[in-house]
Amino acid sequence: MDLGIKGKRALVCASSKGLGRGCAAALAEAGVDLVLNARGADALEATAADLRAKYGVTVETVACDVATQEGRDALLAVAKDVDILVNNAGGPPPGVWSDWDRDDFIAALDANMLAPISLMKALLPHMIDQGWGRVINITSGSVKAPIPQLGLSNAARAGLTGYVAGTSRQVAPNGVTINNMLPGIHATDRAVSLDTGVSKAQGIDLAAATAQRQATIPARRYGTAEEFGAMCAFLCSQHAGFIVGQNIVLDGGAINATI
Ligand code: NAD
Repeated sequence: MDLGIKGKRALVCASSKGLGRGCAAALAEAGVDLVLNARGADALEATAADLRAKYGVTVETVACDVATQEGRDALLAVAKDVDILVNNAGGPPPGVWSDWDRDDFIAALDANMLAPISLMKALLPHMIDQGWGRVINITSGSVKAPIPQLGLSNAARAGLTGYVAGTSRQVAPNGVTINNMLPGIHATDRAVSLDTGVSKAQGIDLAAATAQRQATIPARRYGTAEEFGAMCAFLCSQHAGFIVGQNIVLDGGAINATI
């Protein structure tokens, strides 16, 4: 299928690895020029070189922390007029409800709620002016079904989801869509780190912890960054203009709900 977005330009945050990289690769395959971001320059440059070589698109890089204002200023200096924005950042650490204090919540809100809101505020005006734009926020299945040990994530992402629910309806008349993608467990560094937490907590080895978590998924496996990226590229395509303010769950059936 021709996604109809060849020649568009996208900012994909937190994209040197994992789900962000999957989104960047699928957009590049559709002919979209990219601004990539991650905190560490080495992995970022390696990913940029790989995508340039594979897809022949222009790939710019900005190594910075998207959760900080300085980082976002650096991003916006390069990407202020993009057509597509994919918001992403690392997720907060796991714990117990009684662990977290105000500073922990502020850090989670900065990364997983206020950073994407701030980038939307900065980049939506250009999309509105030109009458076309696409915004994807990578959130989590925890928005639909809470993950008790990820209380910081549950809280911050619920806030972002509420903001998107209203804002997406306000910008839709201008040809701009905002949607959220809700990953269940995907095979990325984040999954390895959460598997490691389970293995330590239960005194089992990493493979056993992974198998235990895979058994909770009807598809009996973790998702891949490539599958996730393909959905992202479709939501950014010309075919997805009627999909507004939705929360698309990609979890192999893990959330046991009728709708
Ligand atoms: P990951 O931890 O593997 O992230 C990798 C990328 O994010 C790297 O490129 C890293 O440099 C970049 N990054 C992290 N924090 C950043 C920051 N503050 N500024 C700039 N770059 C930053 O994560 P992932 O597994 O790809 O997940 C992406 C998002 O989806 C995370 O918020 C995660 O919590 C969420 N999520 C993931 C899963 C999963 O199973 N992988 C499930 C549910 C939710």
